[in-house]
Formats: sequence, structure tokens, C-alpha cells
Amino acid sequence: MRFRQWRYPYRSAYLRARTNAGVLVKCGTKPPMRYASWSIASVIALLFTACGGPGTSPAAQKREGTDQNVHIMDPHSHARPEEAVITHLSLDLNVDMEARRLKGTAAYAINRGKGDTIRFDTDGLTIHSVKLADGTDAPYTLGDTSFLGRELAVKLPAGADSLIIAYETGPGARALQWLSPGQTADKTKPFLFTQGQAILTRTWIPVQDSPGIRFTYDAKVTVPNDLMAVMSATNPQERNADGVYHFRMDKAIPAYLVALAVGDIVFKPIDERTGIYAERTMIDKAVWEFADMGKMVSTAETLYGPYRWGRYDVIVLPPSFPFGGMENPMLTFATPTVIAGDRSLTALIAHELAHSWSGNLVTNATWNDFWLNEGFTVYFEHRITEELYGPEYNAMTSLIGHQDLMNTVADMEAKGDPGDTRLKLDLAGRDPDDGMTDVAYEKGFALLRLVESRVGREKFDAFLRGYFDRYAFQSMTTERFITYLHEELLDPANVTVDVERWVYQPGIPEDDIVPVSDRFTKVEEQIARWGNGTPAKELATQGWSTFEWIHFLRHLPKGLEEGSMADLDRSFGFTRSGNTEILAAWLEQCILNDYDAAYLRLDEFLRTVGRRKFLIPLYQELVATEKGRTIAEGIYAAARPNYHSVSVRTIDAMLGWEGRQGSITL
Ligand SMILES: [Zn+2]
Repeated sequence: MRFRQWRYPYRSAYLRARTNAGVLVKCGTKPPMRYASWSIASVIALLFTACGGPGTSPAAQKREGTDQNVHIMDPHSHARPEEAVITHLSLDLNVDMEARRLKGTAAYAINRGKGDTIRFDTDGLTIHSVKLADGTDAPYTLGDTSFLGRELAVKLPAGADSLIIAYETGPGARALQWLSPGQTADKTKPFLFTQGQAILTRTWIPVQDSPGIRFTYDAKVTVPNDLMAVMSATNPQERNADGVYHFRMDKAIPAYLVALAVGDIVFKPIDERTGIYAERTMIDKAVWEFADMGKMVSTAETLYGPYRWGRYDVIVLPPSFPFGGMENPMLTFATPTVIAGDRSLTALIAHELAHSWSGNLVTNATWNDFWLNEGFTVYFEHRITEELYGPEYNAMTSLIGHQDLMNTVADMEAKGDPGDTRLKLDLAGRDPDDGMTDVAYEKGFALLRLVESRVGREKFDAFLRGYFDRYAFQSMTTERFITYLHEELLDPANVTVDVERWVYQPGIPEDDIVPVSDRFTKVEEQIARWGNGTPAKELATQGWSTFEWIHFLRHLPKGLEEGSMADLDRSFGFTRSGNTEILAAWLEQCILNDYDAAYLRLDEFLRTVGRRKFLIPLYQELVATEKGRTIAEGIYAAARPNYHSVSVRTIDAMLGWEGRQGSITL
């Protein structure tokens, strides 16, 4: 998943209240052990992790064995894979775009363990029947509702190794975003897309929704015959006359990577193994923008070994998609906000592609280990873009990421709540989405950058390649990774890095290497000239990249008068910018400096774009003043139905929106 530079001070009593209400694994109490088949080493590792934090000896926090592939307790799933675990999912779904409902069956191949019950995660689903392969009913119970949804427990008779569940989705299924024609780029047909990460797949499929449980899948999806369906699987490249599409994913993946999109979409290839799906009015722009995709795949392969998924395609979604991108296997889901017209924001594709190794191939065992997915992917993304666009590009994007990280950490510390600045999170009792800040991304990247600098790039590359090969199609805990890192890289190289400090302690350690960008230094010189009275149009800005403009906007002096803002806007056309990164950075300055002339554009932007990383800082700056809060509430009332549930949840919390008249049900 990709979002960057989202800020955190809105993290509120609301979130803490949720934490306190949930199930916490406390020191001195027995953790809710869902999984029994643990090695002694992993039990020890978990206990130290759960009760860890400051004061726990680093030596005790690490050293989980590296060879076992046991199931780790996932605090965000009802599944107990040591009793029974699914190995294959077979979907047969009908997509009703008018009723906004998926209805059909899910069949499962099951690997029996030591229990007679299989436990699924469900959330808001209506279960019509649960049957064995011979057509007889299997007894089942649905548990209580919590933020994890409801457990569906099915009794399995001796020897039963398959099930079929008939079900339909509810009106508030949070993974699904149903768009009316007016909310799409083409404005003629409705659109549907899913977003499974972190724990939302259970809102559209009864499934063992834990990143530590992998299965293969196939699907038959029936859609209106003027639309096309695509999934995180082998995909059609042309529309069928009957609206029936078949899919196959023969590599085992976790539930959060099962994904579906339905709309009036077309396909165009970029080369023989990469291509783009998009609405008609977007397809050519997207193909031009992402022309480097083929080169990105081969560059990634040169670095860390073969791409193992067959094709690599991207679908460009309507602008309400809440993230930059989502790394659904074989088919990245991407926001159209990276189509800048100058190929300047394609690092997003490098990021999602890199997840084909870090995340999709070697997967975080639980959401507490999220940094293993994202920190590695940010590192890998930078290696790809450095190969393609050079070290200066890399220095700029690394420094922007580092600034975001420092802001996030400072915000959390200012709130007296630095727990989530640890790489290893403790998200038990909370929606894991709450912990998905840029700490996992940028602090994770910073640690790997540090390790690389200590051992040298050659050794680090060999280590990473070996890691991806050895643990391909497996899940990884933080503890297991740290042991592997010490044994395979740091100890043989005779290098000391206090990895445990980085992983288990809050804040940013002193040995952090801050990226340096000469081009940003030149930008700062121009800001100083402007501050000293040089008119904006006389500044030396020729040839600036998107990142230099972002740096410029982020570092403007505070308290600018209307005349100064107008000087910038006249000279550089920020309010008219079609580059969403530049526009969003500018709009933030407009709110800070109360520059009225841009409010119409702000209104339009917030009503059409649902990408959370843009929404958070803009709404946050708005609610800081009384005037701004009134504007924010006015815009949000109109814009809220255009946002996906993950963005709605975040902005609701920020604005204290729950319970308001007109709120939609999630
Ligand atoms: Zn990501």
C-alpha cells in the first residue's frame, strides 16, 4: 500500500478509547492463545514482544528460530489455523451494481489440523447456508460482533475437507466502494472496487482473514454485460458478451490481497508482460505516464531475483481510491492522482511493484509486523527509481520521506503517545489501520538504509535476494527477521547495528542517516531570495521537478500576506496546477495563510479526490481555525459520500462526525 506524508496529531481520545475497549495482551496475563502449534521459541518471542518495550532486554526480544513456518497468533483474526486452515478458495459471485451487493458462494479446500471446527472471519455478511461437499448442511455458529466482525465457526465431521458457503454482502461492506457514474472519470457507467487491507476482505468474503494464512483462489464473477471485471489474478484483456469472467491465482496469497474491480474499463499493453486497465478517458494518459513499467520489472528482477507472478498490470481507479496504490498481486490498484502528465510521480508504481517481493512474496505475519512489508518496499522502491532516474531523484524523494517521518514522530510525541513510533507495533484491540502511519514506511526504510551503509551495498543486496528466495510465499515475524539479519548478515560481516533499539523503542535513534539533497539546498536559496524581496517570477526555478516544488512549498515562510501568496500564484500557477502533489502542498499553504482566492479550488479538490494522504493534512489545517472548521464541515458534508470507508473513518474521527445527521452507515 502506498500513502506518504500523512500527519498524525488528530490521533485522538477517540482512538485511545477504542484501544482501551479492546482485548489487550497484558504482561502477567495469559495471552488469548488462538494458535496452539507454536514452537517454544516462538512462544518466548511473543511473550517478550507483547510485554516488551523499554526495559526488555534486546537479547530476549530477538532470537526466534528462522526455520520454522508456524502460525503466529494474529490478534486481528478469529481463525485458528492449527485446528483447520483453508488452502484454496473458489468464488462464484454475482455483482449487482444497482442493489450494490455481491451474492453467491465461496467454496474452500481445507487442511485439517487438530480440531473439529474451522473458524472464519466475517463482517456484515448474511450467511444463507453452509454445506459439505455432499450437499448436507454443516452446523455453524456466528459469534458476537466486534470491530473484528463476527467469527463464523463451522463444525467439520470426520474426514470433511471442503465446504461451500452461500452468502451475500451487506449494504455497509467496508471493503467495497460502489461509485455512481458521476463519480467515475467517464461519467457513464457505475464502478466497483475493493480494498482488502488490512482487515476488510471479511466484509465481502467469509475467509480466514489473517496475513499469516495463505491460499490459492479461483473465481467466476458475473457482472452486467456492459462492464468488465478484473481481479488480483489472471485477467481478461477484452470484454465478454455475457458478462461472465473467470479468474485464477495459483500462487498462495493472504486474504487481504484478494481484490476485485468492475467498471467500464479497457486494457492497453505497455509491453509483452505489463499493461494498463483504465476507463476510456484515462487509458491513453495512463499508458503514457506509466511507460516505464516494463523497465521497472526488469530492474527489480536484476536487483532481487525473478518476478514470480506472471504478468504485472496496473488498473487506474477513479479518484476516490483512498490510497496511492494497493499491491494486489498481478494487478496493482492505483490512484489517478499520480497521473501528472510528466511521469514525475511514477515512483508509486515502483513501490507497488516492489511489493511483489516484499509483502506479497514474504508477508508480514501479523499487522504488528507491518514494517516488514512497507519498510522493505520503500527501500526497494528507491533502489528501482535510483536505477531508472538517478541518485539525485532518490535523494529528493528520500529526504521528503524523512521529513514526513520526523513530522509524524514529533506529532505523536507531542500528543504524549509515542508507542506507535516503534517499528514493531502493538495493535491488539485496535483496528490495524490505526497503526499504518509512515513510521512503518520511513523508519523501516531508515533502518535498512543504515544497515546497508554499514555492511555495504553488495553484501546487503545479496542478503536481501537470499531473504526473498528463502522465505518466498511465507509469512515473517519481526523476531524471525531480526534473527535472520544477525545470523546471515551482521554477525558474519562483524558489524554492529542496534537493530533492537530501532525496532522495539520509540523515536528515531541517533545513528539515523539523514538524506542530503543538493537540489533541495538550491531550492532553499531561492526561498531565501524571495523572502528578501526578489519577485517570485525572477526566482531561478527553471527545470524544477515536482519534488523541488514540494520542497519549495513546504518551506515557505510562515504568516504570508495575501499579496505574497498572490505573487506566487501569479508566477507559478499553483492554484491551476494539474499535479496533485504540488496542488495539495499549495492548498495546505493557502489554508495556513488564509488565501481566499484558492478556496474554490480547495472545495473542488476535496470533493473529487478521496486519497487519504491528501485529505488528512488539508482537513487538519482547516479544523485548526473556526473559519476553517466551518469550511471543512461544509465540504465534508458534500464530499463524504465520494470517499471510501477507510478515508471516511479517518476524517470522521478528525471532525468528530459520528452520529451526525446525514452520516452514511459504514
Ligand atoms: Zn506499500
